[in-house]
Amino acid sequence: MQKLILDIIEEPVHLVSRTMINIDEELCDGCGACISPCVEGALELVDGKAKVIRDELCDGAGFCIGVCPTGALSLEVREAEPFSETAVTEHKATLNLNYIPQICTNCGVSEETAYLIPVKHKGDSIWFCTKCLPKLIHG
Ligand SMILES: [Zn+2]
Repeated sequence: MQKLILDIIEEPVHLVSRTMINIDEELCDGCGACISPCVEGALELVDGKAKVIRDELCDGAGFCIGVCPTGALSLEVREAEPFSETAVTEHKATLNLNYIPQICTNCGVSEETAYLIPVKHKGDSIWFCTKCLPKLIHG
């Protein structure tokens, strides 16, 4: 068994042997396709490679595996921190703080209540809802 050298931690973490996502950095091209299927937000791109940012956020369900176009993701059984619902809830709360919904450039409706479509305009992406877009197209 691998020994981990831990400096100062307040509570000792008891590692358990469980199914985790393994990411082959050689195969990962950093496309980020695996990030949104992960409901726990356990995956992030770090220096252009997908990473499990904290073991306790990964439940090993493997929803990310099927979407990887390069086959970089697989399941492995290894020593890891136990999956923590509490950690997931806290982590998601911080993700939501950074989340700013897009609004329709024309009528101001939010993506929370309408479908928005990006349109290129003078090098920028602007967003229109499905009601305003036809008006834009037909002048
Ligand atoms: Zn609109």
